[in-house]
Amino acid sequence: MLTILFAARPDSWGEYEAPLNRAVATAGFTEFRVVTEAPPAEVDYIVYAPNSDLQDFSGFPRLKAILSLWAGVEKIIGNPTITVPLCRMVDTGLREGMREWVTGHVLRYHLGMDAHITGAPGLWDPVAPPLARNRTVAILGLGELGAACAETILALGFNVTGWSRNPKSIPGVTCFDGEDGLIDCLSSAEIVVLLLPDTPATQNTLNARTLAAMPRGAFVINPGRGPLIDDEALLAALDNGQIAHATLDVFRVEPLPADHPYWHHPQVTVTPHIASETRPETAAEVIAENIRRSESGAPLLHLVDRSAGY
Ligand code: NAP
Repeated sequence: MLTILFAARPDSWGEYEAPLNRAVATAGFTEFRVVTEAPPAEVDYIVYAPNSDLQDFSGFPRLKAILSLWAGVEKIIGNPTITVPLCRMVDTGLREGMREWVTGHVLRYHLGMDAHITGAPGLWDPVAPPLARNRTVAILGLGELGAACAETILALGFNVTGWSRNPKSIPGVTCFDGEDGLIDCLSSAEIVVLLLPDTPATQNTLNARTLAAMPRGAFVINPGRGPLIDDEALLAALDNGQIAHATLDVFRVEPLPADHPYWHHPQVTVTPHIASETRPETAAEVIAENIRRSESGAPLLHLVDRSAGY
């Protein structure tokens, strides 16, 4: 009997129970149970969300892997009680959602929707936006989500550049890597999208120096993680016109505190960490596939590299 412990917010069990049972059965298992409580000595796998009450993994002698429901692992990667493989979530639903959210916000800036939709009689300004092919969008982070967004933005005709830790080759996308590569990437970025993980190396990727490297009047879209941006530097760049507007979905403290300047800044749009989320049906298939792999001795998918931090 395989015991799969679901350790996430209790209110998410209702949407995961049936998909997980279905997916594990479809993966070929007959002797299994997916439960929210079990004696630790009987648990083989933990399906995990970092906002679960479970934080100590030391008392699970049979545990073979922790399968995270979240793409970002910054809240668990440093947990010293984790001694088994940790897999993060790569989910088609998560990817589709991020493509849609990023595309919508890129188009809002590209088309100047705010100015043109909320215009008034005295503000008749018949200047058409440039074509996408005359606009450069930079995607920082060319992983599962960043590469998918780059592909979609590229298909709309934009010039797309991207930046990653290791060199990348994505047809149609001008790829940069390394520290110098960041400045080269940002120097033409009229719109920048942050899809980096939160690691010690990525914190404050956008700071006074890198914001200054962007073309004046550029736009910032952050669906990655709050610590990727030096907030003081961004506020200063918004105030002095270096950055025209920012759309921020993620913050150092969430929910964003009521007194945070972002709430009331006229050039900032705040969204409440909704850019994309794991979808139970498709995520359950990823979890089941990893259990199948683990039980048959095959390499796990989406293993977290603890030395790199993501
Ligand atoms: P991923 O596949 O691990 O991709 C991460 C990308 O960042 C990779 O291209 C990686 O480079 C690059 N990177 C990492 N460290 C770097 C560094 N020091 N310098 C330059 N590039 C670096 O992750 P993902 O699945 O695309 O997810 C990205 C992030 O999105 C997650 O970590 C999470 O924080 C965020 N997210 C947010 C939401 C939301 O609703 N707001 C939802 C899901 C995810 P290499 O390719 O060279 O490894």
